[in-house]
Amino acid sequence: MKKIKVAIIGAGSAGLSARREVAKVTEDYLVFDGGILGTTCARVGCMPSKVLIQAGEDVYKTTKFHDFGVYGQEHIKVNLPEVLTHVRKLRDRFVRAVEGGMKSWVDTHLIREHVELTGLYSLKTHSGEEYEFEKVIITTGTSPYAPEVLKGFESYLYSSDTIFEQVDLPEKIAVLGLGVIGIELGQALHRLGVNILGINRRRSISGILNPEINEYACKYFEKEMNLNFSGLSSVKEVDERLELTLGDGSKHTVDKILLSNGRKLNLDKINLSPLLHIKDKRGLPPINLETFQIEEHHHMFIAGDLTGDKQLLHEASDEGKIAGHNAVRSKPDRFKTRTPIGITFSDPNIAFCGQYYKQLIEEKVDFQVGQVTFEGQGRSIIKLKEVGLLHIYADTKTGKILGAEMMGPDNEHLAHLLAWCIQMNLTVNEVLEMPFYHPVVEEGMRTALRDLRHKLDPEPNVLELRMIND
Ligand SMILES: Cc1cc2nc3c(=O)[nH]c(=O)nc-3n(C[C@H](O)[C@H](O)[C@H](O)COP(=O)(O)OP(=O)(O)OC[C@H]3O[C@@H](n4cnc5c(N)ncnc54)[C@H](O)[C@@H]3O)c2cc1C
Repeated sequence: MKKIKVAIIGAGSAGLSARREVAKVTEDYLVFDGGILGTTCARVGCMPSKVLIQAGEDVYKTTKFHDFGVYGQEHIKVNLPEVLTHVRKLRDRFVRAVEGGMKSWVDTHLIREHVELTGLYSLKTHSGEEYEFEKVIITTGTSPYAPEVLKGFESYLYSSDTIFEQVDLPEKIAVLGLGVIGIELGQALHRLGVNILGINRRRSISGILNPEINEYACKYFEKEMNLNFSGLSSVKEVDERLELTLGDGSKHTVDKILLSNGRKLNLDKINLSPLLHIKDKRGLPPINLETFQIEEHHHMFIAGDLTGDKQLLHEASDEGKIAGHNAVRSKPDRFKTRTPIGITFSDPNIAFCGQYYKQLIEEKVDFQVGQVTFEGQGRSIIKLKEVGLLHIYADTKTGKILGAEMMGPDNEHLAHLLAWCIQMNLTVNEVLEMPFYHPVVEEGMRTALRDLRHKLDPEPNVLELRMIND
């Protein structure tokens, strides 16, 4: 059995950032991955999806041209095979960048095989090679999966792993699940001319937890696309197509189904669960979210999407970094996570940062909500994107900003600004003292902040300027 100091299982975003930290201290490590290299983010996730979304958004813009007095948009034609080729071309570029960053160590430190744990300090590759390690960092990520009702219909299914590989797409596709991935890909494909039927089990878009913004989003997206919120009940094959019966009894015939119903943890194949005494229903052990050690076995680390928490690229990279840093230290360091932020790159964007409305209510926090609608907001009018709502939450006593949920034009940027304010512990008045250019979407955010100030402070600093005290 070969002996190594650190084993890293998975060469995705978390595994790669873990490796970087480990390699700063020791050369005695190996990374194991038998899958296609290049990371989920660059190969089948964040990046190709955003290329497709950009194409859809730009095509959609042309439908507004006549409002500016510009004509000819009726001659615009989407060539879907060429759009998909473009997606793959940029995707390959992103993947090449990831692979380029791996060049210096793949020949010496990468084993191109999937592995499973054989004990608390040992693993085995699929070809049977065994290794003993002192520390292990497990970063095997997640995969799309088909629900029970679709068993036997596999040849009709696409997922984010396969859709970008298609040469062309059929006329009608059902998008199963309207979370972040479903609404992003569903809207992009709809705008590129695919007949989309979006299906969700409940009246919810992109997992928005603020009831008012969620309802606003449902109404907006169901106006643009064909959506159904009663779930998928049964499926039947009819003339090489699928007949879907939905929860409300309606029947729809589609060519394919795009799975966006959530992702399953890649736990089953690594054989971790049998080694644990304490684990949840999914087979996941409690993980220390400051060190990323498994609580029960401190020489074992879990990072990235496999933690089952905050499955986002920047979180996966941070977690990998922390796990790698600690795996080569005798005493682990504890790290603070960044202010939570999440963005759905739909048009308009949907986003949140800090704490959710639902969380604040459940935790009985004394807070106020400042609101603005982007309908009638100056810059949004100019952009012909007069749609959306922003709610900002602040602590009633201290005035500190706690969180925000939003849907609106360019809200990906507002979510960042507010997340940075939250992480800096800023109060509503302190943010209002910042510069706001004119005319910008950020002025909409200022309106919501002013609404908050009004609710928080009966005698506000109405000048919104810092006074000079000699
Ligand atoms: C369609 C889509 C869009 C997304 N968009 C965004 C976005 O806009 N912004 C954002 O922040 N996040 C986005 N994400 C999420 C983001 O891609 C993930 O959070 C991130 O890629 C997770 O990285 P990871 O290292 O945990 O997992 P991965 O990158 O999936 O890496 C896991 C690795 O483990 C390997 N592996 C699995 N089993 C084994 C085994 N037994 N042995 C060895 N190796 C194994 C796999 O081959 C894989 O290489 C998106 C995801 C998807 C699917």
